[in-house]
Amino acid sequence: MAGFMENLNKGLATINVKTSNLMESSKYKTAITNKEDEIRSLMQYIGETVYLNRSNFSINMISQQLSEIEEKYAAIEDLKKQIEQLAENEKNILGAGATIADGPKIFCSQCGAPNTADSRFCEKCGAKIVD
Ligand SMILES: [Zn+2]
Repeated sequence: MAGFMENLNKGLATINVKTSNLMESSKYKTAITNKEDEIRSLMQYIGETVYLNRSNFSINMISQQLSEIEEKYAAIEDLKKQIEQLAENEKNILGAGATIADGPKIFCSQCGAPNTADSRFCEKCGAKIVD
């Protein structure tokens, strides 16, 4: 009976860790997607500015946008690290090999880690999953 309760508690703890990690990491993934969209808009602005001012273009016209893009890329790197950290924590709490539930998997083209088939980003390295 003690063994049963122990397993039950362990099972519930696993679900809690997985659920909160899933919520956390999808929050980070949304933030990454937003940053990528913002970068795309800035890139478009830069392109238009260069074109419209092609006869008297100066780099000063886009220097603010350039540094904003750099900041956003840095922020994306941080977010990816946080996702990586979540996966790492989960592994430490639940034991290696426990992060990916059974089911169809897709392997990361960057690091080779298995991810659930519907993943958009690698659980391990945060790279975008392309299928
Ligand atoms: Zn990866």
